[in-house]
Amino acid sequence: MSACLVCGGARAESLFHLSDRLYRTTDKVFAVVRCGDCGLVRLDPQPPPAELRRYYPDNYWFAPDENAASRLEERYRRLVLRDHVRFAEHALRSSGARGPLVDVGCGGGLFLAMMRQRGFPVIGLDFSREAAGIAWRRQRVPAVCAVLTEAPFPAGACAAVSMFHVLEHLEDPRAYLEAAGRMLAADGRLIVQVPNAASWQFRLLGRAWNGLDVPRHLFDFRASDLERLLASCGFEVVRRKHFSLRDNPAGFASSLAPSLDPMARRVRRLPETTGGRIARDLLYLAITAAALPLAVAEAALGAGSTIMIEARRRP
Ligand SMILES: [Zn+2]
Repeated sequence: MSACLVCGGARAESLFHLSDRLYRTTDKVFAVVRCGDCGLVRLDPQPPPAELRRYYPDNYWFAPDENAASRLEERYRRLVLRDHVRFAEHALRSSGARGPLVDVGCGGGLFLAMMRQRGFPVIGLDFSREAAGIAWRRQRVPAVCAVLTEAPFPAGACAAVSMFHVLEHLEDPRAYLEAAGRMLAADGRLIVQVPNAASWQFRLLGRAWNGLDVPRHLFDFRASDLERLLASCGFEVVRRKHFSLRDNPAGFASSLAPSLDPMARRVRRLPETTGGRIARDLLYLAITAAALPLAVAEAALGAGSTIMIEARRRP
């Protein structure tokens, strides 16, 4: 048993044994455990890096093309990304720090394109060459294939570092947070978002909760675990947000019906007729819409299925 990322404790109890429910990249079963001291939920043992790479299919990243369905999908993505964009915009404007916004795990770069439209200089990093390439070609945002701990940013050069759904995938989230801390300007901002294991959705759905995303999620933070980790890496929390239109209602739909999840269908290359695809998309959208009241209610009570945090370096 490995030591706990948050508290260093060595005791843990078994919670679930699960396989890759969403993308079916493997039949292997993984153990999800809970720290006996602080309660952090995590995968243990972590698969070694070479094995982990196999659980990220090569078509994991969204690459819009020029057809009508793809343009419609991009419009939907822009609409539901507005929570992220507004949160980051507020952080940047209120801090007044100078320098670029660096988005770590930028994927196809749509968030960066939207931030640049609002007047902010942006740079994307992704460990996937494929993703960084899509961000360059499709969104025309500067993006490079790099890991944050080795990226050559001068100390204090960045106004903000964002990591949406990144920390839970990392073998060593602490190293990334410390690297982000060094890159940030004196009043720069760190913006992180992760699934929240203290959510109603996890309590309700248990092992079927999409936020576990075994085996890609190595850690399943509660909001309190994330805040404790941030504090131990030299950050203080400025603001929290529990609602995400993109992630929270759709997460419920993917939990209930993983085989309807549009990305899972793409990743698994399931054969579909046009009619079948539209029917599944509409059904998925209907479940997502039906989950909206639950997502709003859990977020209003501080138990949203994702948590977004703005933090700054402790003086
Ligand atoms: Zn612990």
